[in-house]
Amino acid sequence: MYDVIIIGGGPSGLMASVAASTYGAKVLLIDKGDKLGRKLAISGGGRCNVTNRMERKQLIEHIPGNGKFMHSPFSIFDNENIITFFEDLGIKLKEEDRGRMFPVSDKAKTVVDALINKMITLGVKVRTNCKVNDILFDDEKVHAVHLQDGSIVKTKNVIIASGGKSVPHTGSTGDGYPWAQKAGHTITELYPTEVPITSNEPFIQNKTLQGLALRNIELSVINPKGKTIITHEGDMLFTHFGLSGPAVLRCSQFVVKALKKFKTPTVEMQIDLMPSMHQEEVFQNIIKQLKNEPKKSVRNVLKGFLPERFLTFLFEYLNIDASLTAASLSHEDIRKLAAATKQFSIQVNGTLSIEKAFVTGGGVSVKEIEPKSMHSRKKNGLYFCGEVLDIHGYTGGYNITCAFSTGYTAGKSAAERVKS
Ligand SMILES: Cc1cc2nc3c(=O)[nH]c(=O)nc-3n(C[C@H](O)[C@H](O)[C@H](O)COP(=O)(O)OP(=O)(O)OC[C@H]3O[C@@H](n4cnc5c(N)ncnc54)[C@H](O)[C@@H]3O)c2cc1C
Repeated sequence: MYDVIIIGGGPSGLMASVAASTYGAKVLLIDKGDKLGRKLAISGGGRCNVTNRMERKQLIEHIPGNGKFMHSPFSIFDNENIITFFEDLGIKLKEEDRGRMFPVSDKAKTVVDALINKMITLGVKVRTNCKVNDILFDDEKVHAVHLQDGSIVKTKNVIIASGGKSVPHTGSTGDGYPWAQKAGHTITELYPTEVPITSNEPFIQNKTLQGLALRNIELSVINPKGKTIITHEGDMLFTHFGLSGPAVLRCSQFVVKALKKFKTPTVEMQIDLMPSMHQEEVFQNIIKQLKNEPKKSVRNVLKGFLPERFLTFLFEYLNIDASLTAASLSHEDIRKLAAATKQFSIQVNGTLSIEKAFVTGGGVSVKEIEPKSMHSRKKNGLYFCGEVLDIHGYTGGYNITCAFSTGYTAGKSAAERVKS
């Protein structure tokens, strides 16, 4: 009989198995796919964004979905522990922008293989191509897992590490939620997060801007009263259906929530293409440029003021005749241009589906989980870790950090429970 059975071989389950066996438990890890760590292998653009090196406070601020819950798991295994863990396995890591940590090899396989080798060295038994159909428990405690082939594997401790519902071809198909519900847990509403945003604006629908990337902008989500809900800086991309790119992904959950809360068909987003300048400064700046070369056309003088494709679009969108000489452009038009540079408004109407999202928002309510052990408050011997929980961060290593941290905490606690 196994002391601990872990369902799911994503980052949370893999780390749970390492911790549980390190602390002396006899461990079985089960995954329905043919390979372990499939989502981990495609994270961070296939280079595996192992963790993020930010300070604890900032780390938690970058986990908008119940980040505060992570204080306890981080007190047991945090981002620095993750870094040390991989370096001890001989995986050299490097820090990139915004604290993102990657293997020096730039290959996710390095990280996944290192984890798997560690598990094997520790004696973790692995079963792939093996789907868990159900978890068996009585009113009080866990007894066994029921496999798709009909067999039953007995155990007193089960760690659910089955992930969310996003990118289902990696095996994350939401299997853990009904088991949690059956055990008495609440599943908070599931929604897509870190997901591209859709828009019906004519300039999106007619693909005028498709493929255009805007760098170092500020993107905001605006409520129906005109107040800013959230602003994120970074890069963004216009696509054939709407918006994508890092700043867009970070704003996406606020769009989902605003559409739901205000029950409006669309929500406004605003792009600030020159975050370091006030609107008046932008206005004066344009005037200065036009005054310097009064005889040239507006189009030529302002070339380079904004990305060319966007500027050409703006002239048309704002009905500005860019063939006029610089001296003849009205102050009203210059004001319009400055305003659009600082607050270019886009109505957005939703996001791509939860399946196409990078991360699933919502999940097993953290109120029913002991944060120091990841043990269920509803059923003895039941543990949760990773994205199946109602915890989500921005992309940039935060979700993987949560998965490793909650996984380690669950594995360690389950092993300690076996010993006690
Ligand atoms: C393209 C992409 C890029 C990403 N980039 C980043 C990034 O840069 N930074 C970041 O922080 N996060 C990123 N993420 C999110 C991150 O990868 C996930 O949050 C993380 O993998 C979740 O880990 P997990 O262990 O909870 O679950 P998962 O990785 O989803 O693993 C769950 C495992 O459980 C198995 N399983 C499910 N049901 C069963 C069952 N019934 N029986 C047996 N096994 C089962 C599945 O086969 C799967 O292997 C990205 C996600 C995607 C899709």
